[in-house]
Amino acid sequence: MALTETVPAAPAHEGILRRQSLRESAARTYARSLPIVPVRARGLTIEGADGRRYLDCLSGAGTLALGHNHPVVLEAIRTVLDSGAPLHVLDLATPVKDAFTTELFATLPRELAEKARIQFCGPAGTDAVEAAFKLVRTATGRDGLMAFSGAYHGMTAEALAASGGAQHSSVVRLPYPYDYRCPFGTGGERGAELAARWTQSLLDDHKSGVPHPAGMILEPVQGEGGVIPAPDSWLRRMREITAARQIPLIVDEVQTGVGRTGAFWAVDHSGIVPDVIVLSKAIGGSLPLAVIVYREELDSWQPGAHAGTFRGNQLAMAAGAATLAYVRANGLDRRAGELGARMLTRLDSLAAAHDCIGEVRGRGLMLGVELVDRDADADATGARPADPGLAAAVRDACLDRGLIVELGGRHSAVVRLLPPLTITDEQADAILDRLADALTAAVSTTPGPTGSSPTTMRGTTP
Ligand code: PMP
Repeated sequence: MALTETVPAAPAHEGILRRQSLRESAARTYARSLPIVPVRARGLTIEGADGRRYLDCLSGAGTLALGHNHPVVLEAIRTVLDSGAPLHVLDLATPVKDAFTTELFATLPRELAEKARIQFCGPAGTDAVEAAFKLVRTATGRDGLMAFSGAYHGMTAEALAASGGAQHSSVVRLPYPYDYRCPFGTGGERGAELAARWTQSLLDDHKSGVPHPAGMILEPVQGEGGVIPAPDSWLRRMREITAARQIPLIVDEVQTGVGRTGAFWAVDHSGIVPDVIVLSKAIGGSLPLAVIVYREELDSWQPGAHAGTFRGNQLAMAAGAATLAYVRANGLDRRAGELGARMLTRLDSLAAAHDCIGEVRGRGLMLGVELVDRDADADATGARPADPGLAAAVRDACLDRGLIVELGGRHSAVVRLLPPLTITDEQADAILDRLADALTAAVSTTPGPTGSSPTTMRGTTP
C-alpha cells in the first residue's frame, strides 16, 4: 500500500490522540497502550495518521481472520449495499442471513449441526455468552454455573461473573490445566488429569457444597487468560464428565473459532461436540456479529426470551459468510496450524536465548510468550514469577519497531500474537524478527522486578 498525500500530517494525529484522552472514558483500554491513529489498512498492515506503518498482530483482538479489508469481505459488503437490501431487519429472515446460517452450519461439527438451533444475539461476544447462560438455565431449571480460573468471557454482568477475575456466588471456579503454572504442582498430562478429577469430585461429593449446575463454560484455548491451550485429553474428560451428569457443556469459541488454532473450530482437535457453542469475532468478517448454536433439545425458552434490536446486521452476515467460505475453501485452518507450529519453533529458540522467557506456547496462530523475572528462582514446577513490567516494555519496543502486539495473562505478562491467517511466510518472519529485536532492547533497558540491573542474552550474562 503506497503512502499518499491524503494521509493527514503528524499534528492532526497528535490532536486526535489528545482529544481522545480528554474526551473518552477512563475505561478505554487498547487506546492507552497503542497510541496510534489508524487511517488505512490492508491485510496485516495498518497505516497510522502519522504516516507510519505497523504489522498488526492484534487483529482486532483476534477478529480479523483474513486481515484488514480483505477483497472478498469488501466485495460481500458492497454486494449487499448495491443490492438495495434493508440494512436493519431486527431478527427477520433475509437471503443474506439464510446464506450465512447455511455456511456456518456447513463448518460446524456434523453431530451438532444436524440437530442444531441458532440464536442471533446482540452484536458482541459477551451478548452470546449471556444468551448461552440463559438458555442452559431455562433448559435445566438450575441456576449455578461452572467456569475456570483465568477464563475470559466478556464484560456484561454474567459473562464477567464467569471470568477469572470475578467472584460470584452462582459461579463455581474450577482449575484450568495451565501447564506452566500448574495448580497441582505437577504440570503435563498428570496436572490436567488432577484438574479433571477435582471437577469430578466436586460434582459427585454431595458434601462438596456445589449444587448441580445449569452448565459448564470453557475456552479450548484461553486467550485473554494468557494463551493457554487445554490438552485435548482434558477437553474430552470435561465432555465425558458433563455428559454423564446431564450438564450442558458451553464452549466459548469467540476467539478460537474460524481456523485460528489450526482447525476450523478448536473443538475439532479433540473431537468433542459441545451442547452450546458461543461464536463471535471472526464470524462477522470484521463487523459485529454474535450467535450461539446449540442442541435443539435445549431450545425450550419462550419467544422473546433473548430479544435485542441489533440482531440482524446484514453487512456483518455477508462479510462473515464470505470469511467462513474463504477460510474453508483455502484451507486456512490447516495453514494456521502449519505456520503457527513453525513460528512456535522459532519462539522456542528465542526462549532458549533469553532467561526472561518462562514459556512460549500456543496453538495455530494464537501464540503467547510468557515473560518472567529472570533473577527469581524457579518454584518446584520450574515456573518463575511473572514480569509485567518487562512485558509492557516489550510491547512498547514492538510498537517502536512497527509491530502491534498486546498483553494477556494473569499478570499481563504474556505477549500475544494473533496475526491474520492469511500472512505469508515472509510476514511471519518479519513479525518474529521485530519481536526478537524488541525483546533484546527491552531486556537491556528494563530492570527486573526484584530490582536487578538489566541483563542480556542467556549465555552472555556474566
Ligand atoms: N469470550 C472470549 C473467549 C473472548 O476472547 C472475548 C473477547 N476477547 C469474549 C468472550 C467477549 O467478546 P466481546 O468483547 O465481543 O464482548
